[in-house]
Amino acid sequence: MTSTGNFLQQHSTNDVRPSLSSGEAEQWKKQITSNPYRNYLYSYPHKTAYREFQPPISLEQLWRNEPAETFFLYMHIPFCGARCGFCNLFTLPDKRADVHARYVDALERQARQWSAFTGHKPYARFAIGGGTPTLLAAPQLSRLFRIAREIMGLDTARASISVETSPETITEEKLSILKDNTVDRVSMGIQSFVAAESAAIYRPQNPEVVYQALELLGKYQFPILNLDLIYGLPGQTVDSWLYSLGQALLHEPEEIFIYPLYTREHTIVKPGDLLRHEDLRHECYTAACRVLAEHGYRQYSMRRFAKEEAGTDKAILDYSCQEEGMVGLGCGARSYTREVHYASRYGVSRKATESIIADYVSAERYDTADYGIVLSLAEQKRRFILKAALHSEGLRLADYSERFSTSLWDDFPELGLLLESGLGELQYEAEGLEQRGNPGEDMAEALSGDWFDARNEEHREAQSGGLHFDQENVRVTAQAKGRREDKDGDQRVNQSDARDVVQDDENNLKAPGWERDGILRLTPEGLGYSDSIGDWFISGDIRERMEGFILP
Ligand code: SF4
Repeated sequence: MTSTGNFLQQHSTNDVRPSLSSGEAEQWKKQITSNPYRNYLYSYPHKTAYREFQPPISLEQLWRNEPAETFFLYMHIPFCGARCGFCNLFTLPDKRADVHARYVDALERQARQWSAFTGHKPYARFAIGGGTPTLLAAPQLSRLFRIAREIMGLDTARASISVETSPETITEEKLSILKDNTVDRVSMGIQSFVAAESAAIYRPQNPEVVYQALELLGKYQFPILNLDLIYGLPGQTVDSWLYSLGQALLHEPEEIFIYPLYTREHTIVKPGDLLRHEDLRHECYTAACRVLAEHGYRQYSMRRFAKEEAGTDKAILDYSCQEEGMVGLGCGARSYTREVHYASRYGVSRKATESIIADYVSAERYDTADYGIVLSLAEQKRRFILKAALHSEGLRLADYSERFSTSLWDDFPELGLLLESGLGELQYEAEGLEQRGNPGEDMAEALSGDWFDARNEEHREAQSGGLHFDQENVRVTAQAKGRREDKDGDQRVNQSDARDVVQDDENNLKAPGWERDGILRLTPEGLGYSDSIGDWFISGDIRERMEGFILP
């Protein structure tokens, strides 16, 4: 555990009293903000923390008592036309139709076996990601939906459905298949509208092909179109970044994901390759936040911006990601039960991915989990916090207490640093104020989120679909009002200060209970540092496992 216990004092179960000086909080903030792009924490724990299970765990046993009311069905297609220079995902550049067909045969075999284990709960979400799912020929793409419906029991009328695509792989025929299968969200990775920038990340892409793809997509009127862009590319300037963003906005997508460029020693573009370029990522990010707000996009996380009215007419079943229940079919897909996360082995090189896919395709039995991680209670807590706190909806303290029968501040007093540094804040839902959910927002969140993406669970995973509050009604935050300056300059936040800080529409002060109503969320400034905050919150055990991982 990252501990700041030396300089944090707890006074009661529901009270956090960071006794650190403003200087210490500033020092912590400096560490967080000076290196914002340490680790993209798209899931917790990261797959590099997975190891062989000895002995393997029976899936029948694993899924029998999974508490989620509904499940999330994911299919992974680990093939792309070529590997992008920044990509460290589980995917293999391979366009051969016969290879794809054999892979879908295996996925169908796996589905037949798994449906016996997971068929007792309905699916609220279905996503096909990769890789590039639309690299598959039309008949194979159709098959995936048939497998989902006829074998896994997906009711397409009650589940949100999301599919990832790329500009060079979509055709009228494939889009018709998506439309016929009531796909609600199509997500297309564009990354840049500037040919030279795409070429610099080994993703040769003619902007004309992108425009044609966008025009074609426009004809099909999917309820949500998401476009992915990357900032911080070699040779990119803030102006050229805003040019790409502007081109995307011309097509009025309901949702836009913006990603900072990450490179690793095992990616084609190495960290060293970027040294001669000025790091403009934070400037690009702040410029994009401004432009997207001007265009009416609400920020849901560091990466996700969406129109609030985006949605579908379907009556989607509820799904709470905090409850887990992710059923991942295909090689490279991860599956999450509350206590166990599992997947096939992880690799990036051609040799490794080829061999892992070959093992998957030749397998006859898929009824055990042999690689993953068993989450201790402490790690379940960290996951629960990270899944909520790094998104604009924030972490309801009452949800935490309800799930774990303990106080967030008892368990993780170091989170007080968020409040002290101004990167986080506590907000309160005023008593008697209606909890108002926005259907469009609910839908958009049901279909996407930083925590999961149709293209790849490595890119994102589903955000929790919890309650949404009208933040306009909660005008005074604990961070703003629950802070007092001591004579010696120390700043402190405590429960009694925070209790009287909520003001409703009629200017009535409310005194909601700390645990019942408080929501811990990042401030707008803090959202921009989600990656370094997430990295800071990784436990010592998980970090050790990640560092000990040897990439095959
Ligand atoms: S970034 Fe996406 S499209 Fe590019 S190689 Fe990776 S999975 Fe394929």
